Amino acid sequence: MFYIFCPYCGEHREEEEFHPKGQAHISRPEDPEATSDEEWGDYLFFRDNPRGVHHELWVHAVGCRKFFNITRHTVSYEILEVYKMGEQPSITAENYAAQQGAASADKERNASQAKHQEGVRA
Ligand SMILES: [Zn+2]
Repeated sequence: MFYIFCPYCGEHREEEEFHPKGQAHISRPEDPEATSDEEWGDYLFFRDNPRGVHHELWVHAVGCRKFFNITRHTVSYEILEVYKMGEQPSITAENYAAQQGAASADKERNASQAKHQEGVRA
């Protein structure tokens, strides 16, 4: 059992109250008459399936019954952020990767500094 934060209720609730509804931020073609069959096919049937950061639409089905978005890491299942409909995510695949790269670079730098300091002390 884990808990998901509902941005409308303003509190963590049991996961069983929620249902995933697929990829978030899919917009209907603005001019249906001018949309090609391929574009309709993409809109209706094709979804991203990334390894890493993914934006998903969820509904608080047994609570307030409102839809909202979750940014989730598909490898760790970690929920990175929750935001209301109409809002944009602050965490994207690009800035998450940059953040992780900076974090691991910091770890390597700290590790090499620690080794260097150990070497100086020894
Ligand atoms: Zn709710």
